[in-house]
Amino acid sequence: MMDFSFSEEQELLRKTVRQFVDKEIMPYIKTWDEQQHFEASILRRLAELGLMGVCIPEAYGGSGMDYNALAIVCEELERGDTAFRTAVSVHTGLNSMTLLQWGNEQQKQKYLIPQAKGEKVGAFGLTEPNAGSDVAAMQTTAIRQGDDYILNGSKTWISLCDVADHVLVFAYTDKSKKHHGISAFIVERQWEGFSSKAIKGKLGIRAGNTGELFFENVKVPKENLLGEEGEGFKIAMSALDNGRFTVAAGACGTIMACLEASVQYCHERATFGKEIGRHQLVQQMIAKMEAGLQQSRLLVYRAGWLKNQGKRNTRETSLAKWQACDYALEAANDAVQIHGAYGFSNEYPVERYLRNAKAPVIYEGTREIHTIMQGEYVLGYRQDKPLSKNLPAWPFVEAAEHSMN
Ligand SMILES: Cc1cc2nc3c(=O)[nH]c(=O)nc-3n(C[C@H](O)[C@H](O)[C@H](O)COP(=O)(O)OP(=O)(O)OC[C@H]3O[C@@H](n4cnc5c(N)ncnc54)[C@H](O)[C@@H]3O)c2cc1C
Repeated sequence: MMDFSFSEEQELLRKTVRQFVDKEIMPYIKTWDEQQHFEASILRRLAELGLMGVCIPEAYGGSGMDYNALAIVCEELERGDTAFRTAVSVHTGLNSMTLLQWGNEQQKQKYLIPQAKGEKVGAFGLTEPNAGSDVAAMQTTAIRQGDDYILNGSKTWISLCDVADHVLVFAYTDKSKKHHGISAFIVERQWEGFSSKAIKGKLGIRAGNTGELFFENVKVPKENLLGEEGEGFKIAMSALDNGRFTVAAGACGTIMACLEASVQYCHERATFGKEIGRHQLVQQMIAKMEAGLQQSRLLVYRAGWLKNQGKRNTRETSLAKWQACDYALEAANDAVQIHGAYGFSNEYPVERYLRNAKAPVIYEGTREIHTIMQGEYVLGYRQDKPLSKNLPAWPFVEAAEHSMN
């Protein structure tokens, strides 16, 4: 049986996030973007609405909704601006959901619960100056010394670098084992030797906080190793299954925003004696946006459906992320085109959409990486093996039962 409808709860969620975005983000975003200012109070407001842990079980401080509820939140947030969707992507998608999947009970109690409640903010530290797509080229190390690991190295392009309380950091515990020598750690900002620095002058997501992290002999207790030693690469890739899902959903929000602005402009602007919307070549751009939005949504919500079943969805999520982000970039480019010269100025929001839409084609797997993945799946060169730990299926029966024990 197939069901394409949203539940009443999901519809209400969409309405709530939309109202929030219209009231709390839209009126200010142009200024924040111009000033490269990350408005951290938005995260606190999202926490009050239960949106910092929307698909985390109630037993672990979240709202207990399904994984497609997270997609709805991301779609609606990015309609406002990519910066805040990115924040939810790293906090919930890359960090909290990874703790839910791989964390032991003690780690969930200590780190996941405050994150899901939005009392603490999480980030994800994988990329390094010389290691982006090629994760195994990373140089950060975590060397075991008694009951601690000593962390040394740096990360770059880390979203929420100055804001996060906890960061999932990936480092080599044994470089000779290559991919199998990478481990994942929960690292607290307050620990000695941890520092961060924001990157200014970004093309887009200027209202977001992105930058570098530095670790100088940071003592990480062994209890903060996530999963087993050597499981870090696997953990990072499974985290990306969730992060990419949120990025794909967010891209739908960008397309929605492009459509809204463009449709309005099509009715306002007249050339050659008629609204520009009456010109077929303009209609073609609008029609392509609509097609991109609907196709992307189908891919996103199918991936969410698989997550709800507790099934591995690396292939489907990668396809959704690749396609939705490409469609969003094309939609933003066309939205500027439809606005003519006015689209080239910040008098209208579409130039921001275009600048913002470029980053998701780069992060969480570049367009090229996803193209390669899809080609390899089809050709039979890539198969997904079952993981030792799965994201819990929804409804979250086990987690709820566990908390009652
Ligand atoms: C706004 C923003 C936020 C980010 N947030 C985070 C974050 O929170 N945490 C985090 O860990 N990282 C984050 N990143 C980093 C991001 O994930 C990386 O930039 C991304 O993985 C690409 O790595 P790179 O920039 O080093 O590019 P590279 O890997 O150096 O790639 C350069 C170019 O070569 C191409 N290329 C590389 N390998 C191949 C190949 N095998 N075949 C074909 N083409 C190839 C790429 O597609 C790209 O076009 C963020 C980036 C941005 C822009």
